[in-house]
Amino acid sequence: MKDKKIYPPSTIGILGGGQLGKMLALEAKKMGYKVIVLDPTPNCPCAQVCDEQIAAEFSDKIRSLKLAKKADVVTYEFENIPVKTVEYLEEQGFSVFPFSKVLRLTQNRIKEKEFLRSVGILTADFQAIEKASDLEKALLKIGLPAALKTSIGGYDGKGQVILRNRKDVESILSDFSPRSLIWEKFVPFAKEISVICVRGKYGDLKTFPVSENIHHGNILSMTIVPARISSDAAKKADSIAKTVAEGLEAVGTIGVEMFLLKNETILVNEIAPRVHNSGHYTIDACYTSQFEQHIRAICGLPLGSTKLLSPAVMLNILGDDMICKKNKFSWIDKVLKIDGANLHLYGKKEIRTGRKIGHITVLAEFVSDAIQRAEDAKKFFCQKRKI
Ligand code: AMP
Repeated sequence: MKDKKIYPPSTIGILGGGQLGKMLALEAKKMGYKVIVLDPTPNCPCAQVCDEQIAAEFSDKIRSLKLAKKADVVTYEFENIPVKTVEYLEEQGFSVFPFSKVLRLTQNRIKEKEFLRSVGILTADFQAIEKASDLEKALLKIGLPAALKTSIGGYDGKGQVILRNRKDVESILSDFSPRSLIWEKFVPFAKEISVICVRGKYGDLKTFPVSENIHHGNILSMTIVPARISSDAAKKADSIAKTVAEGLEAVGTIGVEMFLLKNETILVNEIAPRVHNSGHYTIDACYTSQFEQHIRAICGLPLGSTKLLSPAVMLNILGDDMICKKNKFSWIDKVLKIDGANLHLYGKKEIRTGRKIGHITVLAEFVSDAIQRAEDAKKFFCQKRKI
């Protein structure tokens, strides 16, 4: 089963039908595959471009089995898919990539950091928190400032608080109920960077150029490629991502998020076992996109070149940018007049604060021009948010 190559017009099953599922499906359809998605939201973004949707919760094993039976290979676009669903499909003899063990590990920030350290990769100092007395211990051992995060289930900064002083710790202690958290030393990083890495079924590996990421309110706002970092730092980041993918034995695309310190030390913050927001630029700016690479990897096909065709800047469009506007999309004309701007809208019906509803990738001959044009574009759809 593992060695089988899956050629078009076979069917790819995707658990999760948000924008990542949609962009995966678009690439799969381009390559001649059929696509079936399972997602609880009727007519979710992926369903708008794929062959069939099974509308069901991700915990619904019966309907997930129905998806697997209709597909030649199954993948997921979302790291919070219940591991039990993926394990169940594997037990029933279906191929799911990446394997459930990758999902299980990356869903737990403590296990993820233990894994990273076991393969020689640096992370922020951390301590597992389960009961109130662990908070006192972490305060003494790791200290402040710190990021206190839920060990399972958080993303885009959800489920995390920054502890700056003793008073912040006391406020957490005052109504603490035992649960699994992680106390992480706050990292005074110079830049946030990430590397998208693809590992094929036969262990072949490809990495994309390093992304420089700027977050706003813990949500990715802008990705700049090539990252404005030294070539030594870029080589180190690339090698870290490969070590992670190999150590996990992940089949498919993963995103490795890192903190680059002033002295060029690199710490890994998080691993996403899926295509990644900081790799959206690859659609417009690389020989092969991260989405096509994922389809190639899970189907056992040769991976493509990850070469950059042009410097690129990706800007996320969030619900916040639209909510205040009478005509939510009146900025489109102005943005599309910008040289090198490519618009991607996900087709989400509900526009909410913090929700990613699309992105723009601006290409230019020089990265400084791409940044300038992206900043110009942003002024048209977002007056409030800083880059
Ligand atoms: P996460 O949910 O872990 O991806 O965190 C979201 C964002 O919060 C990151 O991209 C960083 O900007 C910030 N952050 C998370 N953990 C830390 C940390 N230990 N030190 C400094 N900033 C952090």
